[in-house]
Amino acid sequence: MTQTVNFSEQLSLRARALLHSLGAEVPEPGPLLARTPISGGVLLPLAVDAPAEVDAAIGRAATAFESWRAVPAPVRAGLVRRLAQLLVAHQDELAELVTLEAGKIGAEALGEVQEMIDVCEFAIGLSRQLYGATMPSERPGHRLMETWHPLGVVGVISAFNFPVAVWAWNTAIALVCGDTVVWKPSETTPLTALACHTLLRRAAVDMGADPAVHQLIQGDATVGSALVDDGRVALVSATGSVRMGATVAPRVAARFGRCLLELGGNNAAIVAPSADLDLAVRGIVFAAAGTAGQRCTSLRRLIAHRSIADQLVERLAAAYGQLSVGNPLDDGVLVGPLINERAFAAMQKALAGSVAEGGDIICGGERVETLGPDAYYVRPALVRMPAQTELVREETFAPILYVLTYDELDEAIALNNGVTQGLSSSIFTLDQREAEQFLAGSDCGIANVNIGTSGAEIGGAFGGEKNTGGGRESGSDSWKAYMRRATNTVNYSTELPLAQGIHFG
Ligand code: NAD
Repeated sequence: MTQTVNFSEQLSLRARALLHSLGAEVPEPGPLLARTPISGGVLLPLAVDAPAEVDAAIGRAATAFESWRAVPAPVRAGLVRRLAQLLVAHQDELAELVTLEAGKIGAEALGEVQEMIDVCEFAIGLSRQLYGATMPSERPGHRLMETWHPLGVVGVISAFNFPVAVWAWNTAIALVCGDTVVWKPSETTPLTALACHTLLRRAAVDMGADPAVHQLIQGDATVGSALVDDGRVALVSATGSVRMGATVAPRVAARFGRCLLELGGNNAAIVAPSADLDLAVRGIVFAAAGTAGQRCTSLRRLIAHRSIADQLVERLAAAYGQLSVGNPLDDGVLVGPLINERAFAAMQKALAGSVAEGGDIICGGERVETLGPDAYYVRPALVRMPAQTELVREETFAPILYVLTYDELDEAIALNNGVTQGLSSSIFTLDQREAEQFLAGSDCGIANVNIGTSGAEIGGAFGGEKNTGGGRESGSDSWKAYMRRATNTVNYSTELPLAQGIHFG
């Protein structure tokens, strides 16, 4: 026990040192406890923003918008470029803080910071490509075109499992689009948020931009609610559970605000008889067990053709047996901790439920007692199910992979689509007809061939359908969600012809 306390204290000291080297002041203590899932101990206690502070932060962002919107987009990109430089310079420290607070292994934490740098680069290029279309006018001497304009204050609500990348997806794009940002990070990861906020403010100072373009508000759902209900917030971009989205969306709609929702997934991979099983096993293990099953795109359902299912399960069980579970700060560890006790309890409940529904736990699910009573390390579980039951259709945010079997591809695609969520999906096949049939048939926002469901690149639009919320972030033309469109008609003739040939008076 003493050892655990000492270990937690060491992690807390390390978090303070990292904040210091990232230039962030150690915050005033308060009731918000930043914990580390590595030991379950407290890293730092922080203050929660009171309603008046949230109100003031939104006010500052709204005021800053009035001048930021007038800065040319390529000049606005200078701020994002400076942010990217700071992220490159501090990549290791920021990644270590992600590991401390979210429990990601080093490689994944570094990858998450890399994703921030990548999206900054994308946004910088985008700043010169916020194109509108021009159309032929039906009237002589007229020009018809669309132009895109900054939207206003963007409220970003983010989840614990991508504590920095999701913020960057939103913020880098919103800033080049001319918007200002108020960020409500997960109450589980307030320190990484503080670090990002500090780097962005420093970038603003370095570039002579108004640091008020970015505001950070800390706290739980109550603080998030204030952002959701505030009419000065033009767009609420909310990432998290379907439950959260179901509360947020109608409230934003009721005030005619805009919502961009990135909610839960229940992602499936189909493995066809022709699949390269070596490749499939590698792809499946990373997607299902990586990040301890705590990615929105984590693989939760494996739909294997009956002819290869036994062989595949055997190979997966062997691969699962080799996964090292433990302290994510240690080299060689592939599976870090669950975020907290609640996640562990949900996993155990789902496993017990799966057995009650006729499931067979092939391996995993048990807790690995390593770094203290409040730290929750588990072996990823593989569970064979007789059918896609109610439980399988739910997202349990933990490393459980349910295995189902199919005979015909149509049946497999129906299983893939037979859940309320619609985020990510994939097929392993060497048969092009099957691959194309799957790409046309999957109802998800992401559909892959011969790779797993997780690990998207920032160049494509990211998001999902149905209860996943329908939002798109990051690459492609996702920027359009952060701007408003105006249709402009310019008459450069001396006549005033009306559209549709109408004669008036
Ligand atoms: P969560 O829904 O518990 O919390 C997410 C955020 O929403 C937090 O900042 C929280 O404080 C805030 N929040 C909760 N209720 C709110 C309310 N009523 N009003 C305003 N804000 C509110 O989710 P979590 O446990 O942090 O994250 C895991 C979930 O997020 C999973 O379901 C996962 O699939 C999902 N997720 C989705 C994506 C995606 O891009 N689709 C990405 C990451 C995580």
